[in-house]
Amino acid sequence: MTKNILHLDLDTFFVSCERLIDSRLQKKPLLVGGIGDRGVVAACSYETRRFGVHSGMPMRLAKRLCPEAVVIRGNSSIYTKQSHLVTDIIKESVPVFEKASIDEFYADLSGMDKFFGSYKYASELRTKIIKETGLPISFGLSSNKIVSKVATGEAKPNNQLRVDYGFEKSFMAPLSIKKIPSVGDKTYQTLRNLGIDRVSIVQQMPVEMMSSVLGLNGITIWKRANGLDNPPLIPFHERKSISIERTFEKDTINMVKLRTTIFAMAENLAYQLRRGEKLAACISVKIRYSDFNTYTKQVKIPYTSADHLIIPRVLELFDNLYQRRLLIRLVGVKISDLVSGNYQINLFDDTEEMLSLYNALDTIRNRYGDLSVQKAASIGAKSIGGSHNPFNGEPPIVLAHRKQ
Ligand SMILES: [Mg+2]
Repeated sequence: MTKNILHLDLDTFFVSCERLIDSRLQKKPLLVGGIGDRGVVAACSYETRRFGVHSGMPMRLAKRLCPEAVVIRGNSSIYTKQSHLVTDIIKESVPVFEKASIDEFYADLSGMDKFFGSYKYASELRTKIIKETGLPISFGLSSNKIVSKVATGEAKPNNQLRVDYGFEKSFMAPLSIKKIPSVGDKTYQTLRNLGIDRVSIVQQMPVEMMSSVLGLNGITIWKRANGLDNPPLIPFHERKSISIERTFEKDTINMVKLRTTIFAMAENLAYQLRRGEKLAACISVKIRYSDFNTYTKQVKIPYTSADHLIIPRVLELFDNLYQRRLLIRLVGVKISDLVSGNYQINLFDDTEEMLSLYNALDTIRNRYGDLSVQKAASIGAKSIGGSHNPFNGEPPIVLAHRKQ
């Protein structure tokens, strides 16, 4: 059966949120990110891009390239709120959807109607989102998840594009190979050096040649170029979560030990988020007392994966929750409301140094295991976490699919 897969992507999301708050920023070159000397650009408006500005660039360089740009310090709680608003509209409009990142969604419209019906339905959904939130959004609709994502990119800004069934290959053919999701800078250079610049050339190549040059990634790229790679949607559940619990061998009231354990749990979960390229918007803490009564407390937070934002909130929750002066049998930390995403949303108060510190620590953990580096405060809680990756496990809790 032919599928109808819709891909929706909010245009320059952080920038659009800022323009919602201050309409004077419309059509002006705008940089959002860390405003300090060592800040990083988290998002930039279309007006800045012809000056060579892009996200992830040091703010001081962006300001030099585009001196007339208005610079705004990002605010992740505003973006989280807007992201939830859009999610709610999509949730009530379609039967199955995937939240691929804070500003990007897939919806399966198969069987809802004939194809023209799906396009009409998608257009109405887009109009509704724009009307109710004031945020510009674009979409692509086709029989294929990857083709729809590429179509959204071609439609942008603030537009929509349908690729009819049977026309996936011819739609992809004239595009630059850079447009294929998973072709990064390095792969792009490798292919360019071989004289491959258009998708049509990949389409004409035997798959074996692509795999001999790029291995498994070459096969994926070849399939995507030919409209043959169509991964399934990962249905969105807000309660998707990762968690760690520990039952003590002996019930305890040793506050240093308890807080150290909680700290280590939060640190490990935050690392797992980053490793899976996820962000979380909800944390909760659980205590079970020696009389087996169990209490939990949760708090909503702006999307993040940063230790310095997650750990203090977890400790605060624990301190609020621990009210009965009874021995404790079990403690646990859970992180939920997960979406795909990377450090980008944490770039507003982080300097390049802090980002490199996170990267360096995580690189050591990736190589030598979760416990190879820990903050001094969590040393002593030796057996927290483990080498398993919840994002690779079976069944998968959530799949990392940022790099599609
Ligand atoms: Mg977007």
